[in-house]
Amino acid sequence: MKILTVLGSTGSIGTNTLDVVRRSQHLYQVYSLVAGQNVETLASQILEFRPKVAVVATSESLVRLSESLAAAGLARSEWPELLYGNAARVQAATADEVDTVISAIVGVAGLEATYEAVRRSKRIGLANKEVLVSGGQLMMQAARECGAELVPVDSEHNGAHQCLRAGNREAVSKLILTASGGPFRNTPKEALAFVTPEQALNHPTWRMGNRITIDSATLMNKGFEVIEACWLFDFAPSQIDVVIHPQSSVHAMIEYTDGSVLAQISATDMRMPIQYALTYPDRCEAPVPKVDWTKAKSWEFYPPDYEKFPLLRLAYQCQEAGGSATCTLNAADEIAVEAFLQGKIAFLAIAEVVAETLSRIPVRTPRTVGDVLEIDRESRTQARELVMARAGAVTA
Ligand code: NDP
Repeated sequence: MKILTVLGSTGSIGTNTLDVVRRSQHLYQVYSLVAGQNVETLASQILEFRPKVAVVATSESLVRLSESLAAAGLARSEWPELLYGNAARVQAATADEVDTVISAIVGVAGLEATYEAVRRSKRIGLANKEVLVSGGQLMMQAARECGAELVPVDSEHNGAHQCLRAGNREAVSKLILTASGGPFRNTPKEALAFVTPEQALNHPTWRMGNRITIDSATLMNKGFEVIEACWLFDFAPSQIDVVIHPQSSVHAMIEYTDGSVLAQISATDMRMPIQYALTYPDRCEAPVPKVDWTKAKSWEFYPPDYEKFPLLRLAYQCQEAGGSATCTLNAADEIAVEAFLQGKIAFLAIAEVVAETLSRIPVRTPRTVGDVLEIDRESRTQARELVMARAGAVTA
């Protein structure tokens, strides 16, 4: 039986994780559930999965969670230990009882808990890509030193992980990550200036949280995935290709030096990679549709448009630059995406804010998680100033 902490239990990955658990209850026990503000969903998860510990982001959310549990009629003696804040997230992820942590908080709020779980040699099912984008060097060093297994949940990296199990890593010449192309794949570049948050949130193949959905529309998400793959599998950026594949059925491919290519193919359902991360190296029946090979289908593959989606190229450049560049990239993007969703800046300004923030924040080598978080804060402050200048210019 695996004993789990789910970081980000109320999100898209978190709820899919709990669905995997629900369908194979004999395999898993939930030790702790960690969420942000969504206490209604967390309360219903507590009633169903009966964790020992539940953590929310703030003291205010903790009060609301207590009220929800009381309103649901759960006797006090049945309540889990209720905690809030970053130290509690770390505590939940590192508890001795826990052997597996699903890291699915969005953004750097999940960084320290994931890092400390790695240092305690837990199995990590890693969805929270910002952890590697911001602090990849530290995270991988800790994983090597402590023997922690990082099994990617992100479907492309999960696909790559599966392909790489075929062996002969030294003879792998390229990793190919596929991208759906997002909702604006066929939108002319000039029309991107006018797209709305509603249009950008309408992803053609995946249902995900807001941040990653907008990042998919700008292809920033694919850039983050290139960075994530460099760290996870020890590739140089030049060894990773991105290919647009609108059907999102092939998730990743590896090419060997002799030109042979292996691909991982499965339905567009995150419960498959989540379950793989939980059961690896074993496999078991997953609650996802299978590819129907009796039906005719055609799959397309073509190169991305780097001019239309400049954030993808910027991600390659930041990873080449090394140090804290990718941390700044992530922080600035998060602020710019938030501003776009709030209607403060236009879609194309997301890339402008990110590029300008990068040009203003010097690249350093973070030595601790604290350093990463400090650079993250500094980059956010800079990005916010740039957003405010743009928002002011729009209203003036
Ligand atoms: P969601 O926005 O759906 O969920 C985010 C989760 O993080 C929620 O549980 C949220 O809690 C929690 N959270 C946010 N801030 C805090 C905080 N300060 N403290 C504690 N918890 C917090 O995101 P997704 O599930 O879509 O994505 C999660 C991660 O997985 C991201 O890094 C994303 O890039 C990655 N990923 C997601 C994929 C997907 O299919 N969704 C695919 C591949 C990777 P609450 O809602 O309670 O506030």
